[in-house]
Amino acid sequence: MKKPFVTLSQLEAITAQYPTPFHLYDEKGIRENARRLKAAFAWNPGYKEFFAVKATPTPAILKMLHEEGCGVDCSSLTELMMSDRCGFRGEEIMFSSNDTPAQEFALAAKLGATINLDDITHIDFLKNTIGYIPKKISCRYNPGGTFTLGESEEGFQVMDNPGEAKYGMTRPQIAEAFRRLKELGAEELGIHAFLASNTLSNDYYPALAKILFQLAAELKEETGCHITFINLSGGVGVPYRPEQEANDIAVIGKGVRRAYEEILVPAGMGDVAICTELGRFMLAPYGCLVTRATHEKHIYKEYIGVDACAANLMRPAMYGAYHHITVMGKEDAPCDHKYDVTGCLCENNDKFAIDRMLPKIDMGDLLVIHDTGAHGFSMGYNYNGRLRSAEVLLREDGSTQLIRRAETPEDYFATLVW
Ligand SMILES: *Cc1c(COP(=O)(O)O)cnc(C)c1O
Repeated sequence: MKKPFVTLSQLEAITAQYPTPFHLYDEKGIRENARRLKAAFAWNPGYKEFFAVKATPTPAILKMLHEEGCGVDCSSLTELMMSDRCGFRGEEIMFSSNDTPAQEFALAAKLGATINLDDITHIDFLKNTIGYIPKKISCRYNPGGTFTLGESEEGFQVMDNPGEAKYGMTRPQIAEAFRRLKELGAEELGIHAFLASNTLSNDYYPALAKILFQLAAELKEETGCHITFINLSGGVGVPYRPEQEANDIAVIGKGVRRAYEEILVPAGMGDVAICTELGRFMLAPYGCLVTRATHEKHIYKEYIGVDACAANLMRPAMYGAYHHITVMGKEDAPCDHKYDVTGCLCENNDKFAIDRMLPKIDMGDLLVIHDTGAHGFSMGYNYNGRLRSAEVLLREDGSTQLIRRAETPEDYFATLVW
């Protein structure tokens, strides 16, 4: 059973101050989770999490993670600018972009970020843009094919398709890239790969680590490069559905350690730092979208209209993603009504839930849409002239803080030429 991190009475007080809809974040949950991650990798002296800014590009959240020892992973100009303004410096910034505009490489280099090259042609592109190759640099690897884990009768526990992904370099390319980077003055090389998204398995990171550690040992032999960091990137998932089990980050950390001791240490590479670029795992469960039921409609199906829409949370409309819904105050009521829960966009995919069994919903009820802390607000858009909502932080002491105001029509009109 999924439980919101706020109670109805807390939410009634919060909604008296901030009108729905808004995204609400749980400071306590975010900090505790960041500490669990750090503890899980404490065996690796150089370990650092670089939070994937795209998941939740909100300064108050970034600063909180900075206080917990995290860096940031950026992939655009504005993410770099925001990270700089939030106080992240130099090697606290990872720049893992693709199809990268020149000015973004220029800013990343100026900030002293660690640049992660997505393609072999980016070596010359970067050199022509900034005039040199940074001493510390990494390359993104794509092994191609399919990536699977844990075959059982129900299928694979994890299955993804690197061969269809636009990211990274092939095996021959990464060796050539390392040789060339070394020639051009690089002294500390890193390897990055992202092979599967939202994995619910304690085996994903260890399996990825094995692949990258093996590759690192081979590349060291083949190219003579000094490989100093390996970036496991993102992809550790969260249980969006109530019947799913959460990953155990301590077990994941142990699994990566085992691979490290089996492969890297015997290869004389026991000084390699592990990096992660988690987004979803860091934030998703610690944010929710708070919305109110405003309309009910009885036609061929039963519809509940709420005051949020896909502009506030796009994942259900875009991927058919499941987000759990709690009708506040009715947590123990029987789920004996079948509803489609919809937003107001003139798009039939604007549904937060389809055929969902829920308690009877009355107009004015507060609904919590779970697990929107990552890739929630940030994917928002302005279709239908809909405005992005506010973001509110629930502090550890129970108080609240507005960390992003809601857009106004003036914001929407600001770029127009009349
Ligand atoms: C999106 C992304 C991440 C974060 O992915 P999650 O699934 O949120 O963990 C990390 N690294 C890169 C390069 C990404 O594009």
